[in-house]
Order: sequence, then C-alpha cells, then structure tokens
Amino acid sequence: MNDLLPDRSALWQYFEGKVQALTQRYGYAEIRTPIVEQTALFARSIGEVTDIVEKEMYTFEDRNGDSLTLRPEGTASCVRAAMEHGLLHNQTQRLWYQGPMFRHERPQKGRYRQFHQVGVEAFGLEGPDIDAEVILLSARLWRELGLSDHVTLELNSLGSSEARAAYRDKLVAYFEQHRDQLDEDSLRRLTSNPLRILDSKNPDMAPMLADAPKLMDHLDDASREHFEGLTALLQAAGIDYVINPRLVRGLDYYGRTVFEWTTTALGSQGTVCAGGRYDGLVEQLGGKPTPAVGFAMGIERLVLLLETLELVPDSALGELDLYVLPLDDVATTQAMLLAERIRSELPELRLQLHCGGGSFKSRIKKADKSGARLALLLGEDELEAGRATLKFLREEREQMSLDQGALIDILASMTASDERA
Ligand code: ATP
Ligand code: MG
Repeated sequence: MNDLLPDRSALWQYFEGKVQALTQRYGYAEIRTPIVEQTALFARSIGEVTDIVEKEMYTFEDRNGDSLTLRPEGTASCVRAAMEHGLLHNQTQRLWYQGPMFRHERPQKGRYRQFHQVGVEAFGLEGPDIDAEVILLSARLWRELGLSDHVTLELNSLGSSEARAAYRDKLVAYFEQHRDQLDEDSLRRLTSNPLRILDSKNPDMAPMLADAPKLMDHLDDASREHFEGLTALLQAAGIDYVINPRLVRGLDYYGRTVFEWTTTALGSQGTVCAGGRYDGLVEQLGGKPTPAVGFAMGIERLVLLLETLELVPDSALGELDLYVLPLDDVATTQAMLLAERIRSELPELRLQLHCGGGSFKSRIKKADKSGARLALLLGEDELEAGRATLKFLREEREQMSLDQGALIDILASMTASDERA
C-alpha cells in the first residue's frame, strides 16, 4: 500500500481530471460507495472459486461479528448500491466510480495491495451499441492522454452461460488429454474454473493452450450476432482491435463481450483497463434481470505508463508559476494584497506567497528553491514607485521592472503558453 506524495499528486490529479471531464461528456454520473461491504456480496458476485475470493480479499469480523471485506473491485458495490436505491427500476443508468480497491496480492511493479480504479458501468442496455460506447469512452481517454499508439484493444466473447457450459466440457476433455502439461495451478483450476487455465502466463503451457478449443467457435447464435454488432460499430468508429480467443477475465460474472486494453511498455502487468458484459449479475444478486456492461482501469498502471513513456505534460508536474516575495517585512502587507489580486485576476496561476520573513539572502534562496518559474519581488524601492520586479528563476534572462498596473496582463501573457486548458 502506497502513500501518494506531493511530487506525484499533481499527475494523479491530471489523470483524475481527464476522467472526470470525460465521463461527464458521455453522460455518466458518479457514484460513491463505502469501501467495505458484507463479505457475501463479493463471494456471490465475483465467484467463490476465483483468485480474488479464494485468496486475495481483506476480510475481517467487525464488533458485531459481521463478516466485512475491503472491496477488491467496484462493480459488486455499484450493483448493490444501485439495487438498494432503486436506480435500476425500469430505467437505464450510466454510472462511474473511482477509488481504492484492496487485494492481498504479491506486490510488484504495477501490482499493489491497495490500488485505485476508475470504472464505468452501464445498466439496462443489452445491445452492442453500449458495449461500443464504453470502449469509445476509454479510447478517447487514451487519445487525450497521448496513449493511443501504446495500447491495444483485445476482444473476446464468452457467449451465453449455456454455450459456456458446453464449451467448458469440451475444454476439460482437451485438458484431460494433456494433463501431463498442466502446471499445479492449472490442475487445481481444472475442476474449479477451467476457463481460467486459458489465461495462464506459463510459457511452457503456451503451445498446448494455443491448440485448445476456442470459445469463439462455440458461441450461441445470439452472442455471435451481438459480437458481430460490436465489431461492426468499432470498425465504423475507426477503433482497431484484435480478437483474443483466450481472453476470459478472472471474475465469474462476465458473459458475452469481454475486453482488455493492454500495453507492452509495463512488463508483465500489461493490462491497464479491463471489462465486459455481465448481464446475469443483477439478477444473481436478487434484482430483476438487467443487462449491464462496464470496465475498470488501474490508475497506478496508467500513471506509471504516462511516466514511462514521458507523456506527463508540464501542467501535471505540479510546479509553481510564480513566487511572490516581499524583500523585507515592510513589504509584507503589499505583497500579500498583490498576491490576492493576482489570484483573483488569474485564477489559473499557481502562486505561492513567501511567508515567514528571514534575511534578504534566505528569502532569495527560498524563491529559488520553490521551483517556480517566475518570482515577483517587492522591496522598498518598488513600493515607493508602485512597481514590482519580475525575476526569471529558471532562464538566463534579464529581470524586468514592471508597473503594478500592467502586471496582470504581462503575467497572463507569460504563463498562457502551457497547456493547462
Ligand atoms: P491482473 O490479471 O493484472 O491481475 P485482474 O484481471 O485481476 O488483473 P481486474 O480485476 O479486471 O484485474 O481489474 C482491472 C484493472 O485494475 C487491471 O487491468 C489493472 O489495471 C488494475 N489492477 C488489478 N489488480 C491490481 C493490483 N493489485 N494493483 C494495481 N492495479 C491492479
Ligand atoms: Mg488479478
């Protein structure tokens, strides 16, 4: 579990800001749920024999003896809340959420025990148009972040639960024939969750898995039609994809469309966004049958990707634009009033006022250390003349003496160049 320190919080805010604006533009409303739920909610939705429920959950008894769990993902909570508050009653809903998730995994780069996800969930719509829309939303996010050339969309269809059950029998039969090639994990999954074996990252098993029967070849007609509808929409929208017949996802509630956005730039933790359709989940949790589709993306991995590819814009570095520096105690009041005026007139500017006095030398030193690009100096001379001195802290450039009346316009022109829009 990580602390997010000041040197990186601006980057997180940049990412979160993009997500917030984007979900709004697509008409998704935010939902915030508690980070703990009854343990049974996750066991019933994610599935008893999934990695998450079998070995990754932070589960504890509270003082009443109730079994609670720190949420390992967001969809179950979202469905629980939507049902509880009647949001799914004869209506469609487009929701999004963001926040910490908890899984007791082996920590490594891109994999943590507390991590953060952004997710969207659309309820009450069964056609492939909404599947396409959530994918388009994520694709637009990649475009805005400059990531489009670095991520790949992988698609598969898991079919109906009947088609999946029939396929499962075929798959188990195939694996039984190749039992000697299965690793320990896969042998365990053979009875509990054989589809998950397809997802194995063990290179020794790769050739055997490549020849395994494909779910795509065993789809029911309705699921096939749905999938073809989706791919047609993606093609029309110019979204490239690859069909990955081994994409199965680690949670039980998925059916029909599943997808992942992956990258090769992060080593083995290459999935940055994953989702799909879960038409059976609402009913499974006691609600009316309600089709649903959504995705979750891991913020840590996306932030890491932006850093790795050096796609962090200056505005996401969190640096100050301006340090306002009274050169002596007499100038304190004037400097504070001037700083307030600048903040009113130029609300985009990141401005820090020097506080805490000090010698002339130490004040200049603090201005340098602030990381700001510009400093505005106010001393006795400046006060008398109604002027201020603009000093360039990170460029070889002659300082300028400015009339305080013209100050706002000059500051605006000097700081407008970056992409803080
Ligand atoms: P993986 O195969 O990498 O374990 P998953 O199938 O368990 O992923 P999901 O539950 O679908 O992942 O979560 C969606 C996204 O959340 C992942 O694609 C990833 O970006 C992120 N994520 C999942 N688990 C972690 C974790 N422990 N630490 C950081 N990010 C995570
Ligand atoms: Mg996992």
